[in-house]
Amino acid sequence: MNKYTKITASIGPKCEDRETLTRMISAGVNMCRLNFSHDTGDIQGRKIDMIREISTELNSPVAVMIDLQGPKHRIGNFETEDKYPLEIGQKFTFDTDPTPGNTTRVQLPDADVLGSLKIGDRILLNDGKIEMRVDFASADKVDATVIRGTEIWSRRGFNLPDTEIATSVLTKKDREDLAYAITKKPDWVAISFVQKPEDVAEVRDFITERTSHPIKIIAKIERPNAVDRITEIAEAADGIMIARGDLAVEVPYAEVPAISRRIIRECRKMNKPVIVATQMLGSMVNSEFPTRAEITDVANAAYLRADSTMTSEETTIGINPVNVIETMYNILANADGDAIANPYDWSRVENIPENDWSRSVASMAYLNKASAIVVFARDTIATTQISCRKPDIPVIAVCNESVIANQLCLARGVFPIYDTELFGMRDAFNAARHFNINSGKLVIVDEEKISLRTLD
Ligand code: PEP
Repeated sequence: MNKYTKITASIGPKCEDRETLTRMISAGVNMCRLNFSHDTGDIQGRKIDMIREISTELNSPVAVMIDLQGPKHRIGNFETEDKYPLEIGQKFTFDTDPTPGNTTRVQLPDADVLGSLKIGDRILLNDGKIEMRVDFASADKVDATVIRGTEIWSRRGFNLPDTEIATSVLTKKDREDLAYAITKKPDWVAISFVQKPEDVAEVRDFITERTSHPIKIIAKIERPNAVDRITEIAEAADGIMIARGDLAVEVPYAEVPAISRRIIRECRKMNKPVIVATQMLGSMVNSEFPTRAEITDVANAAYLRADSTMTSEETTIGINPVNVIETMYNILANADGDAIANPYDWSRVENIPENDWSRSVASMAYLNKASAIVVFARDTIATTQISCRKPDIPVIAVCNESVIANQLCLARGVFPIYDTELFGMRDAFNAARHFNINSGKLVIVDEEKISLRTLD
């Protein structure tokens, strides 16, 4: 009960056996992220089944998020697997010719991408280590000048921070992956390289055409044009991930903290949960201890009242994924404890109208020094909205549908309890006791009714 910020754990080769996964979930994982850039189909399906089984065994709701690869772009092959030298100021050409590349040219396999480039656009290859600028652009050939970088080789990924790319947010592979994943009823689907709110609508249509299961959508923010339209994208999506890996390639890295703060603030206003992702405990891929900078980064996400932090390679390929989760839990519990001891002044949240009902709930809890807020959660909306007021006391969500309990695992400070029998006033008290809250006042929210009750 002393950790409010949730943990999303990326699941990969070093943690997908039942024993490790069980220990990680017991250690505090609230949501498992299955990255479809790596495994697909039944291999991921079996992991989803295992997470569901462990969640049932532990009697602890855990959300499943599938993360689609999205339109991640790569250049074609070179004549050999060697690295080819580049010189600052030299010309380099990208074209549609599948002939292997050399020191002056290479194929760019996706014609839509080539056709989207304009004169002056930057092409950032290999995580931004190579920068080129477009001098000439046509539908089948682009000439560029090398600004930064010393070598280039086959299949490097590239980012186009200045270019609105005219492709669907769902590639052919994403469509296949999503069509399969839907059959496994994930709680959340994360979409990569979102550029605009219409991308979210496209994925929502794809899902609703195939299932009535209420799958929620996370938009990953990793492109500058998505940052510019964050309010509209947050409105269209059900949650946001700050995907700092690609984001720090596409925008100047020094701007990432300010952008992250802005996105977290925006999500609070829009009543949407937000995940801070990538390299949070990255050094723990090879180390049993985090760096001082990583400890501060994780704590800062909690101080900013993000809903969740996320692990990446440190759990998928790291030496000790369980230790990573214990470490993250420890840092978050300390930061959350400090934040709760020095509470956030919710009344200063900008742009939340005075008469907003969720603000009234937080206000009632704050003024009456309530021990917890108990919500009868018939859907996720009311609970998520209360969580976004960051009341700094537990929000206990009494759910009689498992999908609602799972989806609420992502919301900061929300403790879902799933039981088909629970739904009366007495159950609110029992739910509080289930989480060891035995005295003080409870704010109880049941649809439009908000009441204050004393526990003891
Ligand atoms: C990121 O870029 O930070 C991210 C989370 O996305 P992916 O791991 O899919 O590249």
